[in-house]
Amino acid sequence: MELDFKQYKLIVESTPNMIWRAGLDAKCDYFNRTWLTFTGRTMEQEIGDGWTEGVHPDDYDTCVRIYLESFAKKESFEMEYRLKRFDGNYRWINDRGVPVYDDEGVFIGYIGSCMDVTEKVEGQLFKEQAQIDGLCNIYNRYYLDRILEHYIEKSREEGCCLAIIMLDIDNFKLVNDQYGHNVGDIVLRQVAAVIRDSIRENDTCGRYGGEEFIVVLNNTSQSHALEVANRIRIKIAEKTIEINITESFSISVTVSGGISFFRERDSIIDLYQRADQGLYSAKHSGKNCIKFVDNA
Ligand code: GH3
Ligand code: MG
Ligand code: MG
Repeated sequence: MELDFKQYKLIVESTPNMIWRAGLDAKCDYFNRTWLTFTGRTMEQEIGDGWTEGVHPDDYDTCVRIYLESFAKKESFEMEYRLKRFDGNYRWINDRGVPVYDDEGVFIGYIGSCMDVTEKVEGQLFKEQAQIDGLCNIYNRYYLDRILEHYIEKSREEGCCLAIIMLDIDNFKLVNDQYGHNVGDIVLRQVAAVIRDSIRENDTCGRYGGEEFIVVLNNTSQSHALEVANRIRIKIAEKTIEINITESFSISVTVSGGISFFRERDSIIDLYQRADQGLYSAKHSGKNCIKFVDNA
């Protein structure tokens, strides 16, 4: 037995989902009780484009664009944006809209259904933050290990090349001793930014620890890895780092680097160790250079 109109209405009004409807002009003409309770606004305030007043300013453009573009193509959409709740807090909303057709198959508008997914979205953000080094804003050691595990497996299976570059700031202790830890932190951030801006989208860089960084070059020849490492080294040496704390001055630093190239039986530790040996050799060759050991 089919549901009658009254039963449908009861479902729509009592569901925990927030439901809206829009007509042919893309203007909303209905919100269920759950929506109105969530926003704490009246039907009159929400209809038309009124509901967009509650969309977070940072999400507004994307939200309205997806809505109107889907509408124009009569396509279903799903998007997430922040919507202001009755208490003034913004919550992440997952909104799915579907085009509606009448019995004759004529398009008559949209119906949408939304859920508060704040816990899920914030959980995901937390996960992402746990992979990032808070000071340098690049990946942390934990993430570097995960990505290397992945590439090592891929290199074993598909026989592609993999290289890592280990970079270490030269005489960094002197920077801290001479200018203080705050300035040291600025230098670390600037060096990290140069490294991040020097690599391709498919490559990865992260903070290995202290003043040491790792670049993971996936699918890269030995000569290219050497070229990338030297390009980064030169960019760092040429960079003037401006310090504006109590007084203004500028400093520059250099880095030394070691490279290792993946061999079939390598573990992550082997790769790090050979890169570290290259780095050691670079330090002993007077610093501000890149080395790699061939047969360790
Ligand atoms: P080398 O050229 O041989 O690499 O010399 P170095 O002075 O760079 O190396 P050393 O290992 O003696 O010193 C590294 C310094 O890095 C010591 C430590 O205080 C500093 N350091 C490590 N992490 C941080 C950080 O997060 N912030 C700041 N400001 N300094 C840090
Ligand atoms: Mg070091
Ligand atoms: Mg150092």
